[in-house]
Amino acid sequence: LPTEFLEAVPVMDVLHQHGYEAYFVGGSVRDILLGKKIHDVDIATSAYPEEVKQLFHRTVDVGIEHGTVLVLLNQGEYEVTTFRTESTYQDFRRPDQVTFVRSLKEDLKRRDFTMNALAMDTTGNIVDLFEGMKDLDNRCIKAVGNPSERFHEDALRMMRGLRFASQLDFEIEPATYEAICEHHSLLDKISVERIQVEFEKLLMGGNRKKGLDPLISSGCYKYCPELADKKENLIHLANLSNQPFESVELAWLVTLAALDIQPAQVKAFLRQWKCSNELARLMTQSVKALQQRLLTGWRLDLLYQSGEKVITLVETACPYFGQPSQLSESLLSYQQLPIHSMKDLAVTGQDLLGHVKQPPGKWLGDMLNYFEEEVLFGRIENDQEKLLQAADLYQKGDN
Ligand code: ATP
Ligand code: MG
Repeated sequence: LPTEFLEAVPVMDVLHQHGYEAYFVGGSVRDILLGKKIHDVDIATSAYPEEVKQLFHRTVDVGIEHGTVLVLLNQGEYEVTTFRTESTYQDFRRPDQVTFVRSLKEDLKRRDFTMNALAMDTTGNIVDLFEGMKDLDNRCIKAVGNPSERFHEDALRMMRGLRFASQLDFEIEPATYEAICEHHSLLDKISVERIQVEFEKLLMGGNRKKGLDPLISSGCYKYCPELADKKENLIHLANLSNQPFESVELAWLVTLAALDIQPAQVKAFLRQWKCSNELARLMTQSVKALQQRLLTGWRLDLLYQSGEKVITLVETACPYFGQPSQLSESLLSYQQLPIHSMKDLAVTGQDLLGHVKQPPGKWLGDMLNYFEEEVLFGRIENDQEKLLQAADLYQKGDN
């Protein structure tokens, strides 16, 4: 067993010693069988949450209504979740109620895909009740049981299936895919927040096209915010270079540009997706800069306004739109700018007030803006004496 699992074995031992069952379940079992890196291990147990809490000194109720208790042992934190079923789904979203059960089989049965319904014991033995190993071998995403029923229970599973196709480079099994096509409109019951998580993971996956293609062909895209009338643009996005994105920011920038979202629309678009204001600000700047960069190349004022973060994003996005990245050249040009903000000007507003001997007013801001541009384009040297001389000329010209 890899260390991530070994470290959790003492937790499982305690459960076993008290007569409970305990298994590793979920994504970590799938990922270890695929030889992938794993983040955190999930433990499923027949012990009820209150029983788990009695067995360990330090626990945190992270999701006790869903049966999850965080166990703190030695240096580690382990999510321990009681076997459960989610029997009654009324609204296609979340189970009305979680029922805790003592049977592993019941717990695995309610999981979304066969590859996610594997359990592993502390010796590394796999419990495979739904042919998950076979589907892993065939690189196949297959619903556990009847796919239509499963998507009716929780429509988010359709988006999860698409994102796993991208992340794992797997095919969606035909009956599962057909059910997604048939039931895609159930996604309108799902919160944007949950769709957003899956869509971002899809974008960040190693084979994005493999998730985007069925997102489009199944019709699921129509239930993603702002995408309903963007089919052609989505096809364009799917057909760009399939090079994985190195950051979520880059993923959104390329997506926004491929969808032809204009700078002035970016904020509203990303608000619909419930993205942060911080991302919206960064993307508004980046989309605008990318448009100009692709059309005319950087101008000094665009470099100046953009700053290193936006320049880096934009240059990294260029290859997706058929232009080679000129990252180091562009960053160098930026670093060589005579100033990087108003603060770098060799005169301050105070200096100008003292020199020009006029009451403060709009003229001061105008003059500073004028100097900013003149210095940026190298028409006036960033030197106090030169700038004060220029202030005199500027005043004369003005009056
Ligand atoms: P990731 O690597 O992204 O964490 P994961 O498979 O671990 O992938 P999680 O969201 O962490 O995904 O869920 C853990 C496990 O819980 C899944 O492997 C699956 O067995 C089950 N699961 C999660 N979401 C659902 C769902 N909507 N319907 C059914 N089972 C689910
Ligand atoms: Mg997980």
